[in-house]
Parts: sequence; C-alpha cells; structure tokens
Amino acid sequence: MSDMHESSQSIRDRFSRSVVPNYARFPLVIREARGFEIVDVDGRRYLDMGCGIAVNCLGHSHPDLQAALQDQMGKLDHISNLYHFEEQVALAEALIARIGPGKCFFCNSGAEANEAIIKLARKFGDPEGRYDILTTTNSFHGRTLATIAATGQEKVRTGFGPLFPGFSQVPYNDLEAMKSAVTDRTIAILIEGVQGEGGLTPASVEYLKGIRELCDSRNMLFLMDGVQCGHFRTGRFQSIQRILNLPENTGDGDAIRFMPDAISLGKSLGGGFPTAGIWASWKVQDVLGAGSHGTTYGGNPLACRMASTILDVISRDQLNRNILQLEPVLRNMLNGMTESFPDMVETSRGLGFMQGLVLRDQSDIFKANDKMTPSVQVTLAAQERGLIIIPAGPRVVRFLPAYNIEAAHIEESGTKLHDALTDIKNTL
Ligand SMILES: *Cc1c(COP(=O)(O)O)cnc(C)c1O
Repeated sequence: MSDMHESSQSIRDRFSRSVVPNYARFPLVIREARGFEIVDVDGRRYLDMGCGIAVNCLGHSHPDLQAALQDQMGKLDHISNLYHFEEQVALAEALIARIGPGKCFFCNSGAEANEAIIKLARKFGDPEGRYDILTTTNSFHGRTLATIAATGQEKVRTGFGPLFPGFSQVPYNDLEAMKSAVTDRTIAILIEGVQGEGGLTPASVEYLKGIRELCDSRNMLFLMDGVQCGHFRTGRFQSIQRILNLPENTGDGDAIRFMPDAISLGKSLGGGFPTAGIWASWKVQDVLGAGSHGTTYGGNPLACRMASTILDVISRDQLNRNILQLEPVLRNMLNGMTESFPDMVETSRGLGFMQGLVLRDQSDIFKANDKMTPSVQVTLAAQERGLIIIPAGPRVVRFLPAYNIEAAHIEESGTKLHDALTDIKNTL
C-alpha cells in the first residue's frame, strides 16, 4: 500500500518540477477510466459525474468511439484545410441538421470557437466601424486574450493587461441593462444559454426572446456560447431550443426567427478528442471569406469522425430522451440534499445534465475551513467518498454526467454525496 501511495506522490512531484503551475489541480492521480468509472493509481474507484468538465458525454472509452478512431486512423488521419475531405462536410451537415440553415467552421477549443464568432462579428461590423461586443457578468468564454476580455470574471484577467478592447459586461438575465448598454458602436451580444463556470444559471425565456428582438432592431448579431450548455447537455441540442422549446433544424418553420446568428461549440462535441467549432446562420455564413480565418488542425478527419460518431450514437440510443427522463431524478436527488443539509445547501439549480448545488458560503460549517471555498470542500469530500463532481465558482458544485448514465448511477452519486456532506459536517 505504501508503495502505491508513493507513486501518486511521486507523480505529483514530477508535475511540480516540470508542468507550469497554472491549474490548481486536485491531488487525485488518475490511471484509467472506463464508462462512468475512474480508477486512481492506488486502485481506488470513483463514479464520474463530471465528465472531464462536460466533455466525455458518452462516458470514457466508449466502444463506438474506440472503433471509429481506430478505423479513421487507418484511413485518413490529418490532411490540413488546404483540401476537401468528406469527414468534415459530413459533420457540418449533421450539425446544421440539428440547428438550422447555415455553415460551420471547425477549430480545436472552446476559446477558439468564441474567437471565431467574435471575429465573425467584427468582420460583419467592419464596414460601419462597429466592433463592440456586449457580454454578461459571471460569464465564461475562454482563456485567450480576446475571450478573457469577453469573460465577465475579474479573476481570469488579473495581470494580463492591457485588456483586449471592445468588450463590456452587463448583469445576466437583465434585458433592460443590456438595452441600456447598446451604443452606435455595438455589433453583437454574446451570452451563454446556461452560465456554466458562473454557477449554472439558465437564461429566461423573456431574456432570449428580448435579446433576439434587440439585435434585430439594431442590426446586431446575437451570438451564443454553446461550448458547455450545448450539444444536448440540456436534453435538446442547443440550450435555446430547450428553453424556448424550438424544434431542431428550425429552418423548416417560423422558429428560425428566435435562433441566434452564430453559436460556438466545443466540449462534448469531440467527447474527449479535442474539437470545437461554430455554426453561423444563413445570414452571416459567408462573412468569414477565403483567407480571413483559419487553423491547421481544425476539423481534421480524426476529430470530425469522432464528433460525427458521437452524434450518431446519441441519435441511435436516443440519449437526448435519456437526459430529459433522468433530469427530474437528478433534480430530486439534489433537492434531497437541500432538505437534508439546510445549514450547508441553499438550493439546487440548472437544466438537464447540467445541475448542481448552491452552497451556503456564510455557513459556519464551511467557514471552519478558511483555506478552501465551499465548492472545493464539497468536491474534495465527494472524492474521498468515491464521487467526481466539479466546482463552478466558490459556492456551486456541478454534476455534468455522461448522457448514457442510468438512474442507478444518480442514486449511487446521491448516497456518496450525502456521505460527503455528512463528513464535512462531522469535522466541525
Ligand atoms: C469551457 C468553456 C469555454 C472554453 O473552452 P476551452 O476548450 O477550454 O477553450 C468557453 N465557453 C464556455 C461556456 C465554457 O464552458
């Protein structure tokens, strides 16, 4: 046993010596993961309700993804965007079929996807000299220079000034604040349909409809960051389809007028193979003309085959239905925590498979440990009990499970979470 413990410590030591310390990593050293189970280097098992931050949407090492990757590797791995290849257009078509008429561009990370919709908006506004983009407080859009300026959280920007110009933030779900912030230079509004890192707040129906109207009335673009809340995370392909109850491929009906002008995609899109992209509506689909933007890896055959396979498996196994069916089971479990631990948990919130607990940061139980935020305390205690969940800011913990979990996994996670909260209470 002591040998095994040494090995996890020695890996952590090697990290401190050789890897830039930009992440506040948990001590856990992971050896392997299959399905919904993670195994650490000491052989301890964990139920994964975090999915690598909303990425492994089919669980770990899904057999269909393994087969697709192997097959694609033997056929066409990477060829660059100097040429055409079927894998990329097939993925674009599959995404368009789920969103609406438009075109796609592919890149490698969520931040890059947001960079692409930001550049699209700037190009669109360039003839009129409009370039300002309005975003929201507590939003998260990535870690590049433009996306930290877009992100409404001070902590991502500290020390990286001067800030990339052209962004300002207003409170989320506040339509009047958004209206007042628009100027003659504003070209776009960028929001998440459900704020992820900011603490699991869904947009209201009035907010989404109001922003669409506002953008139409001022010839501005409505941009949505679907990196975390998109790709069926809410039970529908995009969160706006869930919140406004719009059909998929809204080109067929009147619902198209509610859709945004561009959406960034990432995280679950590649299910663990680094992949991201954008969908741009028919209105702006040709704004990024030849030579205006690009990336070497973006949408390579391996990435596109993985992303297409994920969409096929979700359709074949009707996993969107699974999410909607299990959503209340997850909600009931979380509500149970609010009832059982009223002195630690304020409430639960979120949509679909993007739900969590809002913790009482003023509680003496959490204040007893002044070195860690309540969300980190709960996340660590859950790990001790064999459950992986993820903090979203200082006082929210997130469940972002794979789309193919069963009710039994939610029950099991409830037992573990209950034990974890009891452990924290008992240490007081
Ligand atoms: C994770 C995330 C991003 C950034 O994605 P990366 O792949 O880390 O660059 C952007 N927006 C939202 C909403 C996210 O959750």
